[in-house]
Amino acid sequence: MVSPLVVVFVSFGQFQQGRAAVQRVDELAGIPQEDSGAAQGAGAAPGPEHDVAIRFRDVYFSYDGAHSPPVLSAVSFAVPARGLTAIVGPSGAGKSTVFHLVEGFYQPTRGHIQLGGQDLEALTLDTLRAHIGYVQQDITTMRGTIRENLVYARPEADGRQIEEALRMAQLREVVAKLPEGVDTRVGEMGAGLSGGERQRLSIARALLQRPSVLLLDEATSQLDAKSESALRRVLHDLARECAIVAIAHRLSTVVDADQIIVLSHGRVQATGTHHELLGSDTLYRELAGTQFGGHPNR
Ligand code: ADP
Ligand code: MG
Repeated sequence: MVSPLVVVFVSFGQFQQGRAAVQRVDELAGIPQEDSGAAQGAGAAPGPEHDVAIRFRDVYFSYDGAHSPPVLSAVSFAVPARGLTAIVGPSGAGKSTVFHLVEGFYQPTRGHIQLGGQDLEALTLDTLRAHIGYVQQDITTMRGTIRENLVYARPEADGRQIEEALRMAQLREVVAKLPEGVDTRVGEMGAGLSGGERQRLSIARALLQRPSVLLLDEATSQLDAKSESALRRVLHDLARECAIVAIAHRLSTVVDADQIIVLSHGRVQATGTHHELLGSDTLYRELAGTQFGGHPNR
């Protein structure tokens, strides 16, 4: 198997031109079917699957093949094409692994994953990455200038689009104060930027890409309350146009979510809204009372 890291670097240069997020969602729904089936004529109305950005169907996965207990077991859920879906669960529950599978880093050992109604294995990695913005839990090494870091996913982005992404990610003022603005070098290890700034740079990069699906893996864990709250409003607006899936570590993200998926030991234990789950799920109540209890910001 090709290592995930290699896949990431190969794909960076090959992202397609970004367009408005609304358009991207429709495009995602319109990814040509390998086998569209006789029943679906050329003018057939889009099926319900076109409103689903990501679907997991009975997915099993383990990192070392079938040799150990699976990291994910019988995982099924659907992420609507628009709105905010939160994934919560204790550390080690398999949350980040869900994103690794969506990104095509690994394949399920059993079950199916679909993107915009298309089987994931029928899509090229380029197509996949062109549609998905991904902010990883552990931010990778950054080198070069801020501009270079931003345009990885969208080499043709112009100055205005870069400004807009920085503004949305709550980074514009920080960058404006740097000696050379967006052309400031951020160094081998992202030196000179705080953890929170590096997170915001990763978010700006993903936003610049105008993805139809935005995956955020604890992407705001190092942000101060003010930046986090401002970013939350931006994401709330963006969720009208695309699917946002956030692995959540704060109550504020979860309260806002249209849907919450509770993962425990690699299984979907419950799904619902914050209020539904507070009433129905003991683990969720526990998580809400402890892990999410720190910074409600509201
Ligand atoms: P979470 O994000 O919910 O904390 P992860 O998806 O990172 O959980 O991890 C789920 C399980 O898979 C854990 O037991 C973890 O140790 C294991 N795991 C995660 N990444 C790898 C990997 N690259 N290789 C082997 N095991 C892994
Ligand atoms: Mg994780």
